[in-house]
Amino acid sequence: MARVRLHVELLDLSQNALAVIYAACRQCYSSGFSGQIFKEGINNAKNQEEFVKQIVSSGHESPLEHVKFTFAIEGVSRTLTHQLVRHRVASYSQQSQRYVKASDFDYIIPPSIEADKEMKKIYLNTMQEIQKSYNCLLSALGEKGKKGEVANQDARFVLPQASETKIVVTMNCRELMHFFKDRCCTRAQWEIRALAEDMLKICKEKLPAVFNNSGAKCVALGYCPEGIKFTCKRYPLKEEVLGGAKYAKTKESG
Ligand SMILES: Cc1cc2nc3c(=O)[nH]c(=O)nc-3n(C[C@H](O)[C@H](O)[C@H](O)COP(=O)(O)OP(=O)(O)OC[C@H]3O[C@@H](n4cnc5c(N)ncnc54)[C@H](O)[C@@H]3O)c2cc1C
Repeated sequence: MARVRLHVELLDLSQNALAVIYAACRQCYSSGFSGQIFKEGINNAKNQEEFVKQIVSSGHESPLEHVKFTFAIEGVSRTLTHQLVRHRVASYSQQSQRYVKASDFDYIIPPSIEADKEMKKIYLNTMQEIQKSYNCLLSALGEKGKKGEVANQDARFVLPQASETKIVVTMNCRELMHFFKDRCCTRAQWEIRALAEDMLKICKEKLPAVFNNSGAKCVALGYCPEGIKFTCKRYPLKEEVLGGAKYAKTKESG
């Protein structure tokens, strides 16, 4: 058993990503054919970039669905992947706890627990106890004739949410932008936020025309919609930006 950390790699990105988005955007406004627009535009990256940037900032997002990113992710907890797979406009392939035995499982430690000697001790002891229980159950199930995935699928019920898992995720650019809006926000849980930040960094490197202004929802909005209780104060509150006179009046009277 070992403590492990987040690791993200880009496995694949749609070929000619920018040219495909460009052709799809232009098709909407052109009497010509996107096949021709694609061929003509393929060697004019500068022109494509400017056009795609404008389209993205105008909120015309459906052409972004034609380009996909596939990420390989490891060193994350089942807590994280439980949140990740709530994003439905995506494809996932996750390491199975039925087919992969966890007789030496790795785990994630929350930084707040790692930073405290006492809490860390409790945490590591718990991991070891769980490992012992899992291994005992596995051999007891084996004695009753249950082997392989049939034993694993029942023994895994004692595994913690801290268990490390590996997952492959594919999202199109529109879904990625949506994912970053929610999960790069400081309100998101720390582990999925760290993943979102790493994925965003890769997306910005590979496709800046689409992702340069991507991030937490406040980045695109220019204000924080989370309200006074939850704001991280990076941006002014929504009512401060949009409320105008009404907000000023409330402040005066309050
Ligand atoms: C800070 C934070 C706290 C959270 N806390 C909780 C919690 O306590 N409990 C909990 O259960 N979840 C919680 N969630 C998860 C959240 O409710 C969403 O399930 C998750 O973020 C996926 O978002 P989504 O549905 O917008 O995304 P996706 O599933 O990726 O969908 C993308 C977009 O497609 C559209 N869409 C997709 N499916 C449908 C559909 N069936 N009908 C109509 N439109 C659709 C919507 O516009 C949606 O925004 C939390 C999320 C965050 C970021």
